[in-house]
Amino acid sequence: MKYVEVVLPLPLDGLFTYSVAGDSEAMIREGCRVLVPLGKSKRYVGIVMHVVEVEPAFDVKPIVAVVDRQPILLPRQMRLWQWISNYYLSPLGDIYKAALPAGLKAEEGYKPKTETYVTLAEAYRSEQALHVALNILARATKQFKAFTDFLSLSHWDSLSGNTTQEPLTELTREELMNAANCSSTVVKALVDRKMLSLYEREVGRLNTSEEAQAKQIKPLSEAQAKAFSAICAQFSTKNVVLLHGVTSSGKTEIYVHLIQQELDRGRQVLYLLPEIALTVQMMSRLKKVFGSRLGIYHSKYSDAERVEIWKKQLSDAPYDIILGARSAVFLPFKSLGLVIIDEEHETSFKQQEPSPRYHARSAAIMLAAMYRAKTLLGTATPSMESYFNAQQGKYGLVTLSTRFKNIGLPEIEVVDTKDLQHRKMMTGPFSPRLLEAIHKAMSEEKQVILFQNRRGFAPRIECKDCGWVPRCTNCDVTLTYHKQFNQLSCHYCGFTYGVPETCPKCGGVHLTGRGYGTEKIEDKVRELFPEARVARMDLDTTHTRNAYERIIDDFSAGRTNILIGTQMISKGLDFDNVSVVGILDADAMLNYPDFRAYEHAFMMMSQVSGRAGRKGRRGLVVLQTKNADLPVINQVVNHDFKAFARDLLDERSLFHYPPFYHLVYVYLKHAKNEVVETASLEMGGRLRQYFADRVLGPDKPAVARVKTMHIRKIVIKLESSIDRNRVREALRYVQKQMMQDKHYAALHIYYDVDPL
Ligand code: ADP
Ligand code: ZN
Ligand code: ZN
Repeated sequence: MKYVEVVLPLPLDGLFTYSVAGDSEAMIREGCRVLVPLGKSKRYVGIVMHVVEVEPAFDVKPIVAVVDRQPILLPRQMRLWQWISNYYLSPLGDIYKAALPAGLKAEEGYKPKTETYVTLAEAYRSEQALHVALNILARATKQFKAFTDFLSLSHWDSLSGNTTQEPLTELTREELMNAANCSSTVVKALVDRKMLSLYEREVGRLNTSEEAQAKQIKPLSEAQAKAFSAICAQFSTKNVVLLHGVTSSGKTEIYVHLIQQELDRGRQVLYLLPEIALTVQMMSRLKKVFGSRLGIYHSKYSDAERVEIWKKQLSDAPYDIILGARSAVFLPFKSLGLVIIDEEHETSFKQQEPSPRYHARSAAIMLAAMYRAKTLLGTATPSMESYFNAQQGKYGLVTLSTRFKNIGLPEIEVVDTKDLQHRKMMTGPFSPRLLEAIHKAMSEEKQVILFQNRRGFAPRIECKDCGWVPRCTNCDVTLTYHKQFNQLSCHYCGFTYGVPETCPKCGGVHLTGRGYGTEKIEDKVRELFPEARVARMDLDTTHTRNAYERIIDDFSAGRTNILIGTQMISKGLDFDNVSVVGILDADAMLNYPDFRAYEHAFMMMSQVSGRAGRKGRRGLVVLQTKNADLPVINQVVNHDFKAFARDLLDERSLFHYPPFYHLVYVYLKHAKNEVVETASLEMGGRLRQYFADRVLGPDKPAVARVKTMHIRKIVIKLESSIDRNRVREALRYVQKQMMQDKHYAALHIYYDVDPL
């Protein structure tokens, strides 16, 4: 008898022990899936984390079945799960849920795709029998044609005497129907006559037909070649190197050379991107060079496709390069040599909801370390964390400060909208300067990007008479008006509401939208530039994978002239013909109530500016703000990352913020406000016993109720010298103490480690 410790896809920390007997005993291995019972009637697919021989001291149930003969998790993947669980204080079950495609987690999850083939029925596999068949069919014209077409297409050619062997060519029902130009009823009739028979065959969903295309590796420019050698040199002493290269300096071309070098050494590469929008463009760039050696893995792919990629990575012929978003870090690799984290500063690398709240950059660096692989972080605007690590010498640093072909960085013009509004000179959200620039771009057949980091039509609806504002009944937030659906929607819980005709408070009829979302800007642009072809890219227009591709393709190919979008369009995309970028409202970003507001605003503005004038002439950015005299605006204008980082780091050091201090946010959540109130006070007190004045709060977070649950937040600021293992122990201990109080049975305590 053997025993297995199994992780289940449940938000629970511990492992579950089961016994394994009989045939399964020899088969069972760590990393294999097993089907196990839980409670009275539930069954789950779990993963074996440990196989032990020692009988446990408590009663255990036997497993139901072993699912895999070969592990689907390799030892390093299991270690990564454990690292994430420990570091981010997330239950291992949550990592399991996040890491595996659904098809690998459910009992009947994944169904291989099959195709129906036609073949000649056994009884007719002789020349004589075929003659009989043809005679029978003589008057059924369609069936006759389909049958004879079948014979010749699949090379059951009676005249060549090949009647007893297998067909030379296998034929699908689909192919036969197309070739004979007949319907499936005709094929069915032949099957009913027992002349043809059908069989099913598994086919992969992955596109394997693309052969590696002729290599199109571009030779590096002198500056790029220098950066490339510097990266390689730094890798000899550092595991992580930060490539700080301005937008359009050719970072991607450098990645291509690094990837090729790694492939030549027979090792695999993981290339992480923050957004799906980006992978679309990067995919086509990399496909041109690496063809079928490249696999793509992200959440817009069907689950079944993801299962097949997972299995392929475990096979003897895995993809050499995986391009993917966050979750690709969980894929199994056989011989990882290099991890590239492109746009490393992007906050979407950190998962917010649900748990595990892990940062894919940190996870990827850990993963690379386990393989003794190297990690390259690339960006035009490094995160403070990575920049600081580079300054401290923990990471290598390579800088590329000129654009490819020495094209100038875009000129950024600041327009003070406070003054213009005062003088009533704004046309909706547009300043005269921006309108003029768009007109000019249109007349020169150039393209324009307009950036507004708010989706929907109007971020706020207000009653002009009494000031009433519609709010979500489940969350403490105001609702956004979406004109396309004529709905009010909550961007926190997704709930939608009808639009009231009259004010429910005063009965007034003057409900008006306030502010500009991307949808309203689109309307306005269509009104002001009726001749322009306009597209919008935000969460509402990109529900499907094809929608992304279409919007980006259309804009790349010049089929659209003006692209409006949220932060989705701000980064990484490479368009040739964009001469003007408009940042409509920098203030929403600058005024965001978080210590990272300026960091995010600087990056967002620099990145979206970087989309302008990448080829040919220098681009123009019109930056509209009411805070024109803030130093950060000036730093954006001067492309002065160094000054920006220096100011920011000074401030962070002074106020004990990252990267000098580590933050852990502790959240408490409960349906009743009173419970969460007392619980958070109590927990704050208990935490102070360990961490003294490192503990701040509890406080109400900016949105203190989400999906009907009341939330409190406690902040813990930790100096970098503190032993983080001890911190985690203390947190777990305090949580345990809290949970012993039965008033808190339904209390949910969770953590955000290194929050963004
Ligand atoms: P980044 O990733 O730094 O923003 P890209 O790699 O996208 O920059 O390069 C910007 C543009 O310049 C791209 O269209 C790219 O193809 C082109 N480019 C960069 N380096 C080279 C090179 N060495 N040879 C040819 N084209 C290049
Ligand atoms: Zn009113
Ligand atoms: Zn809500």
